[in-house]
Amino acid sequence: MPVSTTGQSSAPANGRPGKIVCIGRNYREHAKELGNEVPTEPLFFLKPSSSIIREGETIVLPEQSQKVEFEGEIGILIGSPLTRAGEREALEAVAGVLAVNDVTARDLQRKDSQWTRAKGFDTFCPLGPVSTKSHDLGNLTVVTRVNGEERQRASSAEMVFSIGMLLSYVSHVMTLEPGDIVATGTPSGVGPLMPGDVVEVEVLGVSKVSNPVEARA
Ligand code: ZN
Repeated sequence: MPVSTTGQSSAPANGRPGKIVCIGRNYREHAKELGNEVPTEPLFFLKPSSSIIREGETIVLPEQSQKVEFEGEIGILIGSPLTRAGEREALEAVAGVLAVNDVTARDLQRKDSQWTRAKGFDTFCPLGPVSTKSHDLGNLTVVTRVNGEERQRASSAEMVFSIGMLLSYVSHVMTLEPGDIVATGTPSGVGPLMPGDVVEVEVLGVSKVSNPVEARA
């Protein structure tokens, strides 16, 4: 369904969001590649806004992890408050679309019973610029490239749960506020990042973020 984004929102398109909500296991092939069941209801978690970096800034591999991976995702910028919203209201609150890299310390994610550490390191949330044009949220394509080589590609049409359903679902737990970002899950093809790599996530024709990778000095 095309969603018109009218620019009426007060969302700070490139400011710091109050929260970043991330959806886990929202593509069947990705759930399988990590040995997980496809969920029967959305799984979500938070990334701290302190993890945000922008175009060209460096992803720093922390000393606590031996396996940091990229996760290219379609991000949604919230433009107006959503509390216990239906899907239609949720879609009307979308202020824009952006590329998100949900960088993850996979070894720590497996080791810890919750994911705050694995998902929350400084520099673990590269965000592309927000596009506030009208987008068909059911037909967006996300592509991840490492050193120019394509590693992930999927359409939002392949999601287990649609974007409208996800926003509605999350809003029944916590109010989504203007400026918040919802990252809608990563498709299959995740893989490790090494010092010297350049990783790029693009929502095709919409938003792109490219970042070099370095080990902590
Ligand atoms: Zn993710």
